[in-house]
Amino acid sequence: MSQSNIKGKIHSIETFGTVDGPGIRYVVFFQGCPMRCQYCHNPDTWSLADCKEELTVDEVLDGFFRNREFYKNGGLTATGGEPLMQLDFLTALFKAAREKGIDTCLDTSGVVFSPANAESFEELIKYTNLVMLDIKSIDPEKHLALTGQKNDNIISFCRFLEERKVPVRIRHVVVPQKTFVKEDLVKLGEFVGSLRNLKELEVIPYHTLGVKKYNQLGIDYPLAGIEDLTKEDLSIAKKYILEGIKKIRSAG
Ligand code: SF4
Repeated sequence: MSQSNIKGKIHSIETFGTVDGPGIRYVVFFQGCPMRCQYCHNPDTWSLADCKEELTVDEVLDGFFRNREFYKNGGLTATGGEPLMQLDFLTALFKAAREKGIDTCLDTSGVVFSPANAESFEELIKYTNLVMLDIKSIDPEKHLALTGQKNDNIISFCRFLEERKVPVRIRHVVVPQKTFVKEDLVKLGEFVGSLRNLKELEVIPYHTLGVKKYNQLGIDYPLAGIEDLTKEDLSIAKKYILEGIKKIRSAG
């Protein structure tokens, strides 16, 4: 199939994203995700079979060009769901975007990557300006419990991007009783501090705004009873991560 005919399973498109990469973004939500994060805000993107819209690259970019002046200091972000599940379409979309001078940002968990299939990601990253990568937990067992998937491929994906000098913004959600654990946060800091391609680190406080969607979809909310992270605890979490960053940087 030629690149112009390939279709992506798209959940939705937001034309005025302000938190999904630098500047104002045209945000494309991909359908499908193999993770089952307990605090996921978009459970309606999980199943590929639930896709309501299939679009070509040109059809996705049409909406961008209709409002192009908005995105002068921003660009296009692919998120989801997990965009890497549709690697061929994503690569075609980013290639077309970069050819038209559009800044590209990939928001991903990286879980679909593995060292054995690394070659298939080489083309995509040529056209990717920034990767926003979520590390849900640095501890393998806790990651599995929190998301239903192991974190080894995610860590490998970080190193793959580092070797190719692709800038990354690492994101981590601090969840009371789950990821608000000193030892894990220090370890996360050590890992993040060791990345030579780190552009930014975003530490996000857990909040319960996602619960409404679960109620609407009739799904039990796995973190029922866990309160929002307080501002004080967010500061403490940041301090622990910084401790890890300093530790690794002073050692190296
Ligand atoms: S990776 Fe993202 S879309 Fe997938 S379950 Fe986790 S939070 Fe939801």
